[in-house]
Amino acid sequence: MKKLTIIGGGAAALMLAAEIDTKKYKVTLCEKKKSLGRKFLVAGEGGLNLTFDSPLEELINQYFPSEFMENSLRQFSNVDLINWLNNHEIPTFIGSSNRVFPEMGIKPIEVLNKIVEYISAKDITFRFSSEWSGWNKNGDLYFEEGEIIESDIVVFALGGASWKVTGSDGEWKNLFEERNIKINPFRAANCAFEVDWDKNFISTHEGKPLKNIALAFENNFSKGEMVISEFGLEGNAIYALSQKIQDKLLIDETITIYLDLKPTLTIDQIKSKYKNSKQSKVTDILNKDLKIDRTAIGLLKQFSSKETFSNPDLLAKIIKSVPIVIKSADEIDKAISTLGGVDLEEVDENLQLKKIPNSYVIGEMLDWYAPTGGYLLQGSFSMGFWLAKRLNNY
Ligand SMILES: Cc1cc2nc3c(=O)[nH]c(=O)nc-3n(C[C@H](O)[C@H](O)[C@H](O)COP(=O)(O)OP(=O)(O)OC[C@H]3O[C@@H](n4cnc5c(N)ncnc54)[C@H](O)[C@@H]3O)c2cc1C
Repeated sequence: MKKLTIIGGGAAALMLAAEIDTKKYKVTLCEKKKSLGRKFLVAGEGGLNLTFDSPLEELINQYFPSEFMENSLRQFSNVDLINWLNNHEIPTFIGSSNRVFPEMGIKPIEVLNKIVEYISAKDITFRFSSEWSGWNKNGDLYFEEGEIIESDIVVFALGGASWKVTGSDGEWKNLFEERNIKINPFRAANCAFEVDWDKNFISTHEGKPLKNIALAFENNFSKGEMVISEFGLEGNAIYALSQKIQDKLLIDETITIYLDLKPTLTIDQIKSKYKNSKQSKVTDILNKDLKIDRTAIGLLKQFSSKETFSNPDLLAKIIKSVPIVIKSADEIDKAISTLGGVDLEEVDENLQLKKIPNSYVIGEMLDWYAPTGGYLLQGSFSMGFWLAKRLNNY
């Protein structure tokens, strides 16, 4: 039997371990923390969004670059993941926003435990507090505690570089660079962005949501909601544009995004509601006739001049396109995911490192991006599943 070492114990590694044929491989899984799936548990804190319910082509299009993710997503789609979870006693439900969650009442730790129970019953050796620290001169894996593990095949599933406390700290970057593997710089993705709020506005509206809004940044659009924080803006609508905003912030010191407070109405419809209103005060027209809440009105006031606010035509236009200046992204450790990591040119179509044969890379440590909505876990699970299938067929 060939010796297969999996390094990392997150979503991608768990799926690989669950699907690998232990009659063909003697499998060892090394995780530097004392337990598996720490980031998976953090992901569950705000609701464990396992995948997204949409036709496969639409799902694939949410990934960047989608051509890279396509293979693994076609082999293990959102439908496959839901079936897989259900077959492993993890019932799921599709929320109103098409996000897929464990059924009500099932905690993230219970989901993790089901997966861990399943892989623990397989013939796999688990090593905890086992931190991979590089290769020795024979090319064998070298671990922090001084151990050397000889392997025929190695799979790296070391995660991205946010939420260091979970073990996903990106410290593997230097080790790979020493082997001349190109690692693109880590940057925050699916993260909050900094806005210079007016002091009066933020003291009243911190923590308030902006619901059913849309955002535009250059030719990129998103819909959803955001929350006003002291730092700036967070929430799925801005997360969805995070990669594009980050790319532009590499070039420009600040960028402007445009907030549509009434995505379901046209400028003309807004104007007509305004003109037909029986209210006399502008804020009452906005609030009572246009159903724009106090927070959004405060935001409109901060980002428009007095002249605009008192002119119905200009006001209608700005309601559809409030310019908000973004100064920077939040710190990487607070981000939901990271841009950067192993350059995709470094792996072949089987996710094998071109410069280190029989070594594979899966999950978030590769340089791909997806928005929140379950796409991140789906992508990692799909790669783990797909690689297991390839290795089982060798
Ligand atoms: C706050 C938050 C909320 C999220 N919510 C969601 C969500 O609802 N839905 C969704 O789809 N995604 C969500 N995500 C993203 C998702 O959790 C990750 O994309 C996913 O966990 C990546 O899986 P992975 O296996 O590639 O890496 P990880 O899960 O990060 O696992 C990598 C593992 O490798 C280990 N490791 C690292 N270096 C070494 C080493 N040298 N030696 C040994 N072990 C090592 C780490 O300890 C870690 O356990 C969220 C993330 C965060 C931070």
